[in-house]
Amino acid sequence: MGVTKTDFMRGMQCPKMLWLDAHKKEERIIPPEVQERLDKGNEFGDGAMGMFGPYKETTTLKENGWLDYATMLEKTKAWIEDGTEVICEASFSNYGNYCAVDILRKVEGGYDIYEVKDAPQVEEQFIKDVGFQRYLALRCGVKINRCFIVYHGEDENNPYVAEEVTTKAKEYSRWVDENIWRLAKIKKQEDEPNIQPGEQCNCPYECWYEKYCKKPN
Ligand code: SF4
Repeated sequence: MGVTKTDFMRGMQCPKMLWLDAHKKEERIIPPEVQERLDKGNEFGDGAMGMFGPYKETTTLKENGWLDYATMLEKTKAWIEDGTEVICEASFSNYGNYCAVDILRKVEGGYDIYEVKDAPQVEEQFIKDVGFQRYLALRCGVKINRCFIVYHGEDENNPYVAEEVTTKAKEYSRWVDENIWRLAKIKKQEDEPNIQPGEQCNCPYECWYEKYCKKPN
């Protein structure tokens, strides 16, 4: 596979992080509280799927428990063709680069993208995520109208709050185009990038390879 949305975001933080994910994943150490937060975020995302009523979800697992990307791509294509109103985990691939859109909603003349985040407000990093999704969906021939972030509002009875971020997402789509092919090469290369720990190790996210990168040679 080429560059996924996660690859891209991690590679833009530090190209070595992307390379380690692809070649030495066993070296990462995910703190338990981070794992807990990731699991909780998944629950919030599952709950958001129904925010526009009935939906179809592409998520398909292989026998070994891994995501079956090929089937998810096929389902997305078929459901776009048959006019399905709301597709969750809508999957797109272009030259091997891949992403899944949390919620793809059919609107007049195209589709809106909704990226769901279990966070109390919209953060810049989330809009970059959407920029990546918009970029790939467009390259797959899907007309994208507007982009939204769904964040965790204060009303626990209805916590899904959508904020439009279309203008910035468009800017980030251009930024994705400028960087995705460079990152694809780094992901595939045999040699580990020679990058020393620095400010990038905690910004915007704490890197899970710090122990590996900081161990004495
Ligand atoms: S610890 Fe720092 S240098 Fe090492 S992969 Fe992570 S961000 Fe890059």
